[in-house]
Amino acid sequence: MSLTLPLDEPEEPLSYNLNVCSPSFSAATPARFTAISRAKSFRSRYFPHITIDEWNDWRWQLRNRITTTEQLEKIINLTDSERQALQRSSSTLPFAITPYYASLVSPNNPHDPVRRAVVPVVNELVVSNGEAHDPLGEDSHTPVPGLVHRYPDRVLFLLTDYCSTYCRYCTRSRMVGRNQDTTSCKERWEKAFAYIEKTTEIRDVLLSGGDPLTLPDETLEYILKRLRSIKHVELIRIGTKTPAVLPQRITSQLTRMLRRYHPVWISIHAMHPAEQTREMKKACERLADAGIPLGSQTVLLAGINDDVPTMKKLMQGLVRMRVKPYYLYQCDPIIGSAHFRTSVTKGLEIYQGLRGHTTGYAVPTYVIDAPGGGGKIPLLPETFLGRDGSDILLKNYEGNTYRYPDAL
Ligand code: SF4
Repeated sequence: MSLTLPLDEPEEPLSYNLNVCSPSFSAATPARFTAISRAKSFRSRYFPHITIDEWNDWRWQLRNRITTTEQLEKIINLTDSERQALQRSSSTLPFAITPYYASLVSPNNPHDPVRRAVVPVVNELVVSNGEAHDPLGEDSHTPVPGLVHRYPDRVLFLLTDYCSTYCRYCTRSRMVGRNQDTTSCKERWEKAFAYIEKTTEIRDVLLSGGDPLTLPDETLEYILKRLRSIKHVELIRIGTKTPAVLPQRITSQLTRMLRRYHPVWISIHAMHPAEQTREMKKACERLADAGIPLGSQTVLLAGINDDVPTMKKLMQGLVRMRVKPYYLYQCDPIIGSAHFRTSVTKGLEIYQGLRGHTTGYAVPTYVIDAPGGGGKIPLLPETFLGRDGSDILLKNYEGNTYRYPDAL
C-alpha cells in the first residue's frame, strides 16, 4: 500500500492560550498524518467508531490518552504488580499512553519492552541505595525557573512538564506531568528569555521538558521567534520523544514552521526497535526533509534493550530513518529505577558489540550523566594499551593488538 502524503494539509487553528503550559484541545480540522499502520487492527478493536482522520489527528490522540487502570485493563491483561502500582501512582510519575503507542504494547506479555517502559510496576515504589529525585543536580543549576545552566555556552530550557506518554524511567520524573508550577508559562518563559538575553555566552538553547512538541505550532513558533531575536543564540535544539509515541504530531505544517528558524536540530528519544513503525519512519522523514539534522538519545534499560542484537537493530533502524545515534545513556539513578538499571560492564559490552561491527554512524557515544551535575562523561572500552618504545599499542574491535609509530 502507498504511503503517499497529501501535499497540502489543513491548517491548524491559532487557538493557544499562553497562560497554560499544555496543549490546546480545541476541536479543529485534523492535521492529517496519513500512514498505513499496524495500529489499524487496534483502532478497529478499541475505537471502532473513530475515523482514520480522527486517529491520525495528534490532538485526538492527546484527548484520548489512556490514563486510568480501567482504560488500561480493557487492552492488556494486567499483572498484580502493574495493578498495584497503577493504584498507588498518585505519589509517583503519572501514567499516560497515547492510543497509538498503546497499540504497540503486548496485551499478554508483561516482559514486552514497550509495555515495561510505560506501564508502572511495584518496583517503582522501592527506593534503592544511591537513588535520588534529582540525581543530575539540575535544580541547583537553575538560575530562573525552568532553565538549567550547567555548561558555559548552552542552556536547557524546560518549556512544559507535559508528555503525551510517560516513560517510567524518566530522569525528570520528579517534575513531569505534575502541574506543580502554577505560574503562567508566558511569565516563566519571559524570565528565561531575559536570562538568555543578558547571558551573552549562551549560544545553544536545548528545548525540552516534558515534551516540547506537545505544544501547538503557534506556541512553538512564538518561542522560536523569541529565541531567534537574541543575537548570540546560534543553535536551537529540541529534545523529544514525539516521533516514537505520537508520530501524528509531525505534520507538514509543523515542519514548514520549524524550517523557518534554522539551524534547528532535533534529538529523538528512541528506546527499542519495536517503536520503529512506518509512522515513526514517516515522521523522521518529514523532519529530515525539512533540513533538520536528527540525532537520537537512548537510555540503556535492563531487559529492554541491554543486549547487542537489540541495540544494533535499534541503531541501524535509526540510521535508516536518517537519525544519527547520538547518546546511549547509562540509566540515571532516579527513585525506583533499580529494575531498569544495568551494570556499566554490560553497557561497555554492548558498545563493544557495536563499534567496528556496524557502520560507525550507527554507534552512539556511551555516557554517564554524572550524579550531582558533573555533566556527561563518555565511557570507552580500553583501546589504548600503552607505549612500547616509540610505538603505541592499540586494540581493535576484534581484540587484536596493533602498533602505531608515534613520534615522541
Ligand atoms: S518523553 Fe522524555 S520527558 Fe517525557 S516522560 Fe519520557 S523521558 Fe520523560
